[in-house]
Amino acid sequence: MKAEIITIGDELLIGQVIDTNSAWIGQHLNSLGISLYQRTACGDNKEQILACLNDASLRSDIIILTGGLGPTKDDITKKTLCDYFNTSLVTDEKVLEWVTRIFRQRKMPMLDINLQQAQVPSNCKTLWNRSGTAPGMWFEINDKIFISLPGVPFEMKVIFEEEVTPLLKQKFELPFIYHRTLQTCSIGESFLAEKIKDIENELPSHIKLAYLPSVGAVRLRLSAYGNNEENLINEVNVICNKMYEHIGEYIFGENNDSLSEVVGNLLKQKNKTLATAESCTGGFIAHQITSIPGSSKYFIGSIISYDNKIKQQELNVTNDTLLNNGAVSEECVKQMSTAILNKFSVDYAIATSGIAGPDGGTDEKPVGTVWIAIASKHEVITKKFNMGDNRERTILRTSLMALDMLRKML
Ligand code: ATP
Ligand code: MG
Repeated sequence: MKAEIITIGDELLIGQVIDTNSAWIGQHLNSLGISLYQRTACGDNKEQILACLNDASLRSDIIILTGGLGPTKDDITKKTLCDYFNTSLVTDEKVLEWVTRIFRQRKMPMLDINLQQAQVPSNCKTLWNRSGTAPGMWFEINDKIFISLPGVPFEMKVIFEEEVTPLLKQKFELPFIYHRTLQTCSIGESFLAEKIKDIENELPSHIKLAYLPSVGAVRLRLSAYGNNEENLINEVNVICNKMYEHIGEYIFGENNDSLSEVVGNLLKQKNKTLATAESCTGGFIAHQITSIPGSSKYFIGSIISYDNKIKQQELNVTNDTLLNNGAVSEECVKQMSTAILNKFSVDYAIATSGIAGPDGGTDEKPVGTVWIAIASKHEVITKKFNMGDNRERTILRTSLMALDMLRKML
């Protein structure tokens, strides 16, 4: 069974609004066991919408549209669907009552165009919209299903979850899809692929492995397709165990875990505290750590020692180090990390110093050179990286690498 999505709106084509509806619907269809064949975006234009509907109906069994259901002139989906199905709009009394009630509650006058919200093509089943005035619509024509939903993401989601999902489950005998994602860090995807090539070569055809790289991290998603839920889960678990044997040191978590959350949990479990002394990351590591609820249990604070004066004044980096080794050096991050460890009386400290660019690079220390130190009461470990010449990526990757170094130390 194939599904496809058509998102409607000029704003999507000019990039004023990013089409998040398709991504969300794609994920939800997938977890229902329905594979998505194609996504199309088109403008608020009758001919374009009709052409998209014609094309989609040749390929797919379920066609989901979002957008263009509002009461304004640019929203033409309902009228276009009437043309497509050769029918006309009729008033849905239940929706009319609902819309009238909403306007009365909000003490707003009902305009003529608001009444139109209650009109739907005569051949559809209305999908209840508990969070708005535009209902969704469900059409069944020659074994194909067409579903039209509002463009506003939270309205679309409510209707999809409460109305569309139960109807799809009723209508189709859906297979089961099981996903499990392993999150890795500090290793590139080609090196990962090399390490797990035997496991990958032995995968049965109903289990797929996807590499999803992002800055500093690679997610490995296993997807198993079939009818026996228990068997699928067992099969994927066996493969994951093998993955842990081969690349366990790089796996920091699963599914939606974040590195800062994993590190935070380790600190909490061990009842340990953390502080950071940040130069090139400018507080970004502290920000990532404090984005996790409950981080006050283990995170004490940070000194953003961006200027050398602050490195000296607040973190006791010596004149000697700055003159002979420079601020971007092993010696400097060592001093920063031990100084913050003592100053804030914590169990662990992270220090960073680097050249994020675009200026400030030299032959000896090109843009992207970063030193990271992790200190505990017993040891200080340091590592040098070359993060490349993209400032934003350097900051993000440095914070990931630092957190991963701390994770390994913990
Ligand atoms: P309403 O009846 O509430 O007016 P509608 O169906 O007319 O809804 P649109 O007018 O097409 O929806 O879009 C409303 C808003 O929803 C847009 O301004 C945009 O912010 C958002 N939106 C529309 N389509 C998408 C999409 N594909 N992804 C994310 N947001 C979207
Ligand atoms: Mg629109």
